[in-house]
Amino acid sequence: MTERIFNFSAGPAVLPVPVLEEAQRDMVSLPGVGMSVMEISHRSKTFDEIIARTEASLRGLLKIPDNYHVLFLQGGASLQFSMVPMNFLPADGSADYVLTGSWGKKALKEAKKVGGVDVAATMVDGGFTRCPLRDEMSLNPHAAYVHFTSNETIEGVQWKREPAVGDVPLVCDSSSDILSRELDINKYALIYAGAQKNMGPSGVTLVILRDDLLQRIPENMPTMLDYRVHVENKSLYNTPNTWGIYIMSLVCKWLENQGGLAGMEELNDSKAQLLYDAIDATDFYRGHADMDCRSPMNVTFRLPSEELDKKFVSEATAQSLDGLKGHRSVGGVRASIYNAFPRKGVEALVAFMKDFERRNG
Ligand code: PMP
Repeated sequence: MTERIFNFSAGPAVLPVPVLEEAQRDMVSLPGVGMSVMEISHRSKTFDEIIARTEASLRGLLKIPDNYHVLFLQGGASLQFSMVPMNFLPADGSADYVLTGSWGKKALKEAKKVGGVDVAATMVDGGFTRCPLRDEMSLNPHAAYVHFTSNETIEGVQWKREPAVGDVPLVCDSSSDILSRELDINKYALIYAGAQKNMGPSGVTLVILRDDLLQRIPENMPTMLDYRVHVENKSLYNTPNTWGIYIMSLVCKWLENQGGLAGMEELNDSKAQLLYDAIDATDFYRGHADMDCRSPMNVTFRLPSEELDKKFVSEATAQSLDGLKGHRSVGGVRASIYNAFPRKGVEALVAFMKDFERRNG
């Protein structure tokens, strides 16, 4: 098969075709280098330029202020579930976790192993369909930090603006909506995200953290888990994922050509609107998330029965609409339509939905 199908996978996910084409063209020999990016030293001038360019692009796209560090780590977003509390949760302190879905729960589980944690709010009742209102959160003004998940990939629930946490450092898992919209980085102490949805292949984790946080890190941290070490070594303490960082640099260039994050956000919103309009147009499809917390990245919905859910997914797959099965923990259908997902694919899904309802409704 050489034709590309529509890939609705939640991650690893669709990448921009121009990125894949450039990577393919330069795979065997980077221009002027004569080797692939996977074969050169991570300490070479060429790679230095690649990692510096990637960081500069990210700084430009996200308007990252100078007092924030940009790190390219490994271990996925999942390792950040442990690194965050190991670095920033003191033995005599506690951290607040706000739960709007399955990934937040996983982050909480790891933090509990490290120290004191409080659940400032959990939206588990009703099956994680929305974010809490301000007065539904009981935030501790002395917490070491507040952790939240900006976009819950499994449930398709997104915070439209950051929770108001006063002076307490705000930590965010932004794995499934990073680079999909503009952000005010100043509101955050630390943001982390696995690359494999909106930034590149799996194997790189982006961490953006404010400089003053480094003073809170205890001595005797395991070296690889110590943010200070990665800051001091500019993400080159050990061998990073050179290929992943290179692809990220190409994705950033592609994003710049889309009009940056403001342009991307507009495209994302209009793609998501198409799909949510199709869901709202009929009772046959029922959206999972409350309207004002719907994710433009992961669109989750159900049909009138589990049997129809299954039939929908299998017929869609046969029509080259791939990866629509909802996560095993919530069922139903999930259409992940990240930055690089083409509008044509959303149009194809909407047409399929109408036809499926006509035949089965
Ligand atoms: N957080 C969120 C919001 C995610 O969507 C995922 C992956 N789907 C993770 C964390 C875990 O990421 P990783 O597999 O990179 O550890």
